[in-house]
Amino acid sequence: MDETIRQARRWVIKIGSALLTNDGAGLNHAGLKDWAEQIARLRESGREVVLVSSGAVAEGMTRLGWKQRPKAIHELQAAAAVGQMGLIQAYESRFREHGLHSAQILLTHDDMTNRKRYLNARSSLRTLLDLGVIPVVNENDTVAIDEIRFGDNDTLAALVANLVDADALLLLTDQPGLFDADPRMNDQAQLIPQANADDDALLDFAGESASQLSLGGMRTKVMAARRAARSGTHTIIAAGREPGVIRRVADGERLGTRIVASRKPVTARKQWIASHMRPKGEIVVDKGAAKALAECGSLLPVGVISASGDFVRGDAVRCMDSEGQPLACGLINYDLEEVRKIIGKPSRQIEAILGYVDEPELIHRDNMALY
Ligand code: GLU
Repeated sequence: MDETIRQARRWVIKIGSALLTNDGAGLNHAGLKDWAEQIARLRESGREVVLVSSGAVAEGMTRLGWKQRPKAIHELQAAAAVGQMGLIQAYESRFREHGLHSAQILLTHDDMTNRKRYLNARSSLRTLLDLGVIPVVNENDTVAIDEIRFGDNDTLAALVANLVDADALLLLTDQPGLFDADPRMNDQAQLIPQANADDDALLDFAGESASQLSLGGMRTKVMAARRAARSGTHTIIAAGREPGVIRRVADGERLGTRIVASRKPVTARKQWIASHMRPKGEIVVDKGAAKALAECGSLLPVGVISASGDFVRGDAVRCMDSEGQPLACGLINYDLEEVRKIIGKPSRQIEAILGYVDEPELIHRDNMALY
């Protein structure tokens, strides 16, 4: 029995395409009915649930009579737009049978990096939860194609977990969990029942290759679990086809792989900074600065080795050590051209070099989130 998980009040549950797709024959309606019923039970027990669901492309293909998944992105987007109607219709009917309202939320990763849109998404999601509604989130495939290309609703689910400060994130997949080797190649492969989100060995287990679907899938799941851990959210990766899986996991049964958020949650503002998945530039720092960052200090020009990219004051940039290891993401106080002029210089010389000083730090520690 897992007490922490049993006591989790706010849940984000993600159901992926592999589960929702009936071998190319549209939506898995039986599965969807069953998951909706389990989610309704969770609601009845006083838990709040945000559902992140794929399945729009699969349903769109059926509706359009397409036998084969198109290759062209614009056709996949068209299928997603048609299918999203069916997906939402299906969830709406299923939740209504349990007396629950549901709501459609279409998001992109970029919605999270724009401060205004992030705050808007956060307040509408929170309001929906307060109202007892089940928000059903999918990527807005019309304007973003991350999920179509990378199966990236895992990341979106983690960002949503950050957004609502979820206690638990349940990633339902077609695998029983995370294994220490690829179970299809190695019959000695063992399921990992529990790991810490900041344990680097996790990524080794999840594999490098995105071309092998389930392995690549596990990597995005591990990365999602790490991201979710920033809001103190614990992640469970479990088999969506396991009977009663949602209910059982929420009751504390140890199913699948549990990835524990071991560090204290960072502030909402820092989570937002860390959600900039495509920072505008990169800054390589020396050993001293790397140490200062690890100890939650600010980044000063003196500790910078090089800067690249295309950023201006206020943009998010990634800080890396000299071996290319990402350390932190932060909002920078100077444009790239300015940074290049003050690299390696003590802050007291900034005025003499630039003719003005915005701040003595390149990135203030309040505007920095560690990886
Ligand atoms: N977000 C899309 C969906 O819900 C993409 C999934 C896919 O590429 O199959 O269907």
